[in-house]
Amino acid sequence: MEAMLRGLNAAQRAAVTSKASVLQVLAPPGSGKTKTLTSRVAYLLAHEGYRPQNVICCTFTIKAAREMRERLRGLVGGDLESKLILGTFHSICRRYLVTYGHLIGIPNSFGIADSDDSLGIIKRLQKKLKFGMEPRVARNKISHRKARGQRLSDVLKATGKSVDAQEFAMIFEEYETALATSNLLDYDDLLLRCVELLRKYPQCVSNIEALLIDEFQDTNNVQFELMKLLATAQARITIVGDPDQSIYGFRSAEIENLTRMQEYYPGTVVINLEENYRSSSAVLNLAQDVIEQDEDRPNKRLKSTHCYGTLPVLRRLPNPHEEAAWLVSEVKRMTKMSGGCLEFADIAILLRSAFLSLLIEKALANAGIPYKMVGGRRFFDRVEVRLLLDYLRVISHPDNNSALLSIINTPTRKVGDGTVAELNRAAGSAKVSLWTAIQKVLKGEMGLEKKLSKPAEQGLGELVSLIKKGQEKLKTLEPAQAPGKLIELVASTLRFQDYLKRQYKEDWEDRWENVQELLLQARDVTLETLTAEDQLPEVEGAEQAKVAGAQEVLARFLANVALSTELEAEDENELKSRITISTIHSAKGLEWPVVFVPAVYEGSIPHSRAEDTSEERRLLYVAMTRAKALLYMTFPIAQSRSESESILTQFLPSNIEQNRLKDVGPAFNDQTVQDIATILGRAAPSQEALAQAVTSLSDNESQFDDIWPADGSPKGPFYEIETDMPSYYGGSAQSFVDAM
Ligand code: ATP
Ligand code: MG
Repeated sequence: MEAMLRGLNAAQRAAVTSKASVLQVLAPPGSGKTKTLTSRVAYLLAHEGYRPQNVICCTFTIKAAREMRERLRGLVGGDLESKLILGTFHSICRRYLVTYGHLIGIPNSFGIADSDDSLGIIKRLQKKLKFGMEPRVARNKISHRKARGQRLSDVLKATGKSVDAQEFAMIFEEYETALATSNLLDYDDLLLRCVELLRKYPQCVSNIEALLIDEFQDTNNVQFELMKLLATAQARITIVGDPDQSIYGFRSAEIENLTRMQEYYPGTVVINLEENYRSSSAVLNLAQDVIEQDEDRPNKRLKSTHCYGTLPVLRRLPNPHEEAAWLVSEVKRMTKMSGGCLEFADIAILLRSAFLSLLIEKALANAGIPYKMVGGRRFFDRVEVRLLLDYLRVISHPDNNSALLSIINTPTRKVGDGTVAELNRAAGSAKVSLWTAIQKVLKGEMGLEKKLSKPAEQGLGELVSLIKKGQEKLKTLEPAQAPGKLIELVASTLRFQDYLKRQYKEDWEDRWENVQELLLQARDVTLETLTAEDQLPEVEGAEQAKVAGAQEVLARFLANVALSTELEAEDENELKSRITISTIHSAKGLEWPVVFVPAVYEGSIPHSRAEDTSEERRLLYVAMTRAKALLYMTFPIAQSRSESESILTQFLPSNIEQNRLKDVGPAFNDQTVQDIATILGRAAPSQEALAQAVTSLSDNESQFDDIWPADGSPKGPFYEIETDMPSYYGGSAQSFVDAM
């Protein structure tokens, strides 16, 4: 018992050991919600006799799930934690659908359409149907409907007479048909169909004794339904969350779910946590100044458990290039000056929009500073990696039209767009998948309006033979080796290295390296997925689907890929020595000793296209509260588009005092080092080491011209400076949904 409760304060202990059947832990950032949730799982297993296979625990990301599993291993020992049903809502739903989907007519060989697939499908529909709606808009709109629990039939029923409404209904319908013919479920379907399954067959979860959910403030309607269904009558529910950190409203999260839950379960017990263990008082004070501008929220002030620390820095730079350069020099300065107390891995750069990373990445790369990206383009989405994976997806289930279209003529096999359109048409009118159509055409069992050219026929023949060879091989492979061996087969048959050399003269080597990394991942992930992790417990009255060894491992591997948010495939140890660049959205729940938030100006944050300014404010609050010891915010001074646009962000209180923030550089000095060491509980460097570090700084690292002369500064650090569009950063002003 003691091990589980050690290091927890009274309120946290109360939450961990609470006998409540429905418990909400509502508390601000850094107050130990996630820690409390993890300890509660351990407590339920070790002291209340809960069996892990009957406990569901939902985290916000796959990475968070992995971390929680690791912590639990330390807390409860044995292999108890490996039996937990632990993952994101999506991955948990996938497991239920693989095991029980057959009950509602979903073949367990279904594939997962990630958001790129969804977009690809809609783009192809647009070509065919020539509708006016932007594919991206259409995709988001569909997702929004589904996240509210609406299925196609609901949408069709409610469709008005307007041309737009009719058009949308048509796109929705065609999109659903395209998914169905490809035997694909998109992200929203995983949740929706699981709701359908559990409504019809509640016995699938009749074993569940406890349900725990982290980051509850960002759940949507369908997830709320899932909570109700997963937690059967006897199950205890614990959720943790913070309304001030609700940042996914634009993706249909319902902040009201917290109160809805209290209404739905009248006996809900609420516990608040009030101490912050993450940030210095200086960081916390400023963050609270920001969030308190939201007048609709109840006022509550957090206490920091740390010393006051170093004032956050607000730094204005002439333009985005200098902003990036300043950031890099400050990083260099602090890592040098800290005398080993701070490493690159302690530093994060958090961005409102992913495209803002362009200049910063360049500047870091030029300075030879290693970094990793989170929340940007995923490793698995790199062109060459994706292509190989698409071959595997077709081998795994050839009716996946989406994947088949991506490989049909890449590398080129003389199958032109016209031929592909022709094949698609034939498949559509015969109501068969593209794969079936191709085979029939090759066998002469199906005609095309325009006969296949000889080279096209030969090309398609080669493709079919490769896929079939893969499928045959799959039957003979050891399950653990299936994904890796198949990638090897595809790469060697296609002479993939030569293809990359031809196609990408400049950077084929990097790309080939990615392929090698994919192979490593395929081997690793396979072992990981082979653990009991995926196996749901047998329950009475619900028959589980039978799954074949290697085939199932391949399907699981591909599903993991589709649900993964991993950006890098490199090994963990190497990642430990890098700076993190992340979108703010993806940084939720995480913490770093040093945090930079660039581009804090109006138009960027609040984003010019954001509908809900309060959500943007909360986003800034989330970013700021990731910092333990040092917080930097920067922005470029730029030309205005209009007189009325004022500087930076409306989120920093106009009457803020200098003692909350400083705006001169360099920010990092001897005192900062001491503060950081105290807050992080690390050894501070000796005076000699510090002195030596300072002398090792180059001229431009040790001196900065403050662009605002002291005597020229108006009171407070805020001036009416006009801003430019984000395109000033060299990227286009993409929609922020897009940039996530
Ligand atoms: P967020 O809202 O950002 O997700 P959180 O409330 O989930 O934050 P945690 O991530 O659980 O907070 O904890 C923040 C930090 O405080 C972690 O480093 C954690 O280990 C530490 N912490 C939490 N509780 C205590 C405690 N009682 N004593 C010491 N450290 C603690
Ligand atoms: Mg947390």
